[in-house]
Amino acid sequence: MAQQIADRRDIDFVIWEQMNGEKLLGYDLYKDFNRKACDMIITEARKLAIKELLPTMQEGDEQGVKFENGAVKVPESFHRVHKLLLEGEWGCLGAPAEMGGQGAPSLVATAASEYFMGANWSLFVYATMGIGTAEMIHKYGTDEQRQAYVEKLVRGQWGGTMLLTEPQAGSDVGALTSTAVRNEDGTYSLTGNKIFITVGEHDLCENIIHPVLARIEGDPHGTKGISLFIVPKYLLNDDGTPGQKNDIVCTGTEEKHGIHANATCSMALGSKGKCTGYLLGEERKGMKIMFNMMNGARMATGLQGLAYATSAYMLAVNYARERVQGRDMSDFFNHEAPAVPIIKHPDVRRMLLWMKSYVDGMRSLFYYAATCRSMANVAESEEEREFYGDIYDLLTPVIKDYLAVHGHEVCIQAIQVYGGAGYCKDYPVEQYARDCKIASIYEGTSGIQAMDMLGRKIGMKKGKVFGDLLKEMQKTVSAAKDNETLAPMAKKVDNAVNRLGEVSMELGKKAMSEEIKTAFAHSWPFLDVLGDVIIGWMLLWRAQVASEKLAGKIKKKDEAFYNGQIKTAEFYARTVLPVSIGRLDSISDGCGAAIEIDDGGFGGL
Ligand SMILES: Cc1cc2nc3c(=O)[nH]c(=O)nc-3n(C[C@H](O)[C@H](O)[C@H](O)COP(=O)(O)OP(=O)(O)OC[C@H]3O[C@@H](n4cnc5c(N)ncnc54)[C@H](O)[C@@H]3O)c2cc1C
Repeated sequence: MAQQIADRRDIDFVIWEQMNGEKLLGYDLYKDFNRKACDMIITEARKLAIKELLPTMQEGDEQGVKFENGAVKVPESFHRVHKLLLEGEWGCLGAPAEMGGQGAPSLVATAASEYFMGANWSLFVYATMGIGTAEMIHKYGTDEQRQAYVEKLVRGQWGGTMLLTEPQAGSDVGALTSTAVRNEDGTYSLTGNKIFITVGEHDLCENIIHPVLARIEGDPHGTKGISLFIVPKYLLNDDGTPGQKNDIVCTGTEEKHGIHANATCSMALGSKGKCTGYLLGEERKGMKIMFNMMNGARMATGLQGLAYATSAYMLAVNYARERVQGRDMSDFFNHEAPAVPIIKHPDVRRMLLWMKSYVDGMRSLFYYAATCRSMANVAESEEEREFYGDIYDLLTPVIKDYLAVHGHEVCIQAIQVYGGAGYCKDYPVEQYARDCKIASIYEGTSGIQAMDMLGRKIGMKKGKVFGDLLKEMQKTVSAAKDNETLAPMAKKVDNAVNRLGEVSMELGKKAMSEEIKTAFAHSWPFLDVLGDVIIGWMLLWRAQVASEKLAGKIKKKDEAFYNGQIKTAEFYARTVLPVSIGRLDSISDGCGAAIEIDDGGFGGL
């Protein structure tokens, strides 16, 4: 089982060697967390993930959730483990102390979450969904609302959700029709139907607090007219305990491709005319407030993709070490030669190194973003805090989409490494692949993330933030160019970074011209290739750190690990990045066929 979860050695490498986590621990905010304490937390998280969460993953997939008379039952085995997560305060490890969380550095909380998500994401989310809800209430709520909800949500005593989607309002949230009417006592009465609501109803906690987007009667159409309401499943008694049932009910759960044990609910609000909601923040500012939760959820979705990819990769490597099939290529003509583990076959090695390059690169990218997030809070100067905050914002759509899309590809590749066994339910890689697919759909599809990048993020502060990111990449390239082993791959990353810079300018200009539609037809390839180049940067950075370690005195067992970093960077720079440069050329070429083709030209009429 231990083989089915993120590689501890690699997590330690990223946190302590690549991201220099000990520098972060020097800031006052993290004074309660020294290196030893952090190591211990990560060790305990890993143990809990392996011992308790992982054994429930397959069972959860098989049993799914059960819906009956408005109630949703999670798989039986989830109850005990959910309790353990809450008792250990694992869900709120990274949440700020002033909200009732443990306030751990985000790098440490990320490592714990990577373990929990890779072991059973569907279960972990019941314990953590409330944090985003709590953050919004903490930031925009009244004192009374903060007092009533925040700590209980953060600690998972109560569940949280997010109610945006309606049948006619998916990507276009502004098309929602849920309505709120002001009552004399200052509350609102809500009516509407929401669909696809993650953990909208379940039997793991005593109350569920729903943040609901709705339009107050008479307010304008579109996102400008949307307000946000707190709608508790049970209204609160004067003493703050859950009391009378509110008029919000679950009307069904979805049968899905994956994440079977994670309830996806349809919710009816006000079918008896008695759904009480409390305004959160100001009227008509609902979208702005909701984005606080959505941005956090987008990052968490990226981590979900990475966590699945990590687990699928670890399984594939171990399977390839054990599965014996075929002779070694150097014994091709010797029919007496023994069969070897499939890891000895060149094509299997290629698949594994391809997977490793994405998993390693994506992990470094996520942990880099987590570092930026911490630095945006703790750095000494306002200028530095702004710098890191901006980079974090810029990276959000890349992390959301790239880790989802390529995480899924890694899971699919893991099935290939297993051969026929991978396609069968006896092995968990097919579940990881099914579970992972959702990550590029919810919290804004790939297309929506791409629009965010081209429509908003590239142009942040007149392109300064994008330029700053390129400069960060170039710093790594410059350092690596001075290293004889790394110089050839540094050159390749350099070419990709430079070409990325050129193409971003061209595409940005095109997006503001009459060729806007053609530009946006290339927005996803651009987002994706931006991710490719960032991964190249991350792997080169890893190789640089590894190379410095190899030049010093190291333990024997670390040699293979560090050499592995250099080979991974080389593989990626020489086999993936040249394709990425070709993709950049194609974006620059600006083919308009997708726009020019008649609707009928797609065929099938
Ligand atoms: C398992 C699951 C859990 C979910 N959890 C939640 C939840 O907790 N809360 C919640 O509110 N919602 C939730 N959702 C809903 C989810 O966020 C939406 O499904 C998603 O935003 C896409 O909306 P849609 O399904 O209506 O697709 P559509 O919006 O119809 O999109 C269909 C396709 O068209 C593309 N498209 C649409 N509009 C544009 C555009 N303007 N430009 C370019 N491309 C476009 C999309 O990229 C996509 O490829 C969940 C969904 C699922 C399946």
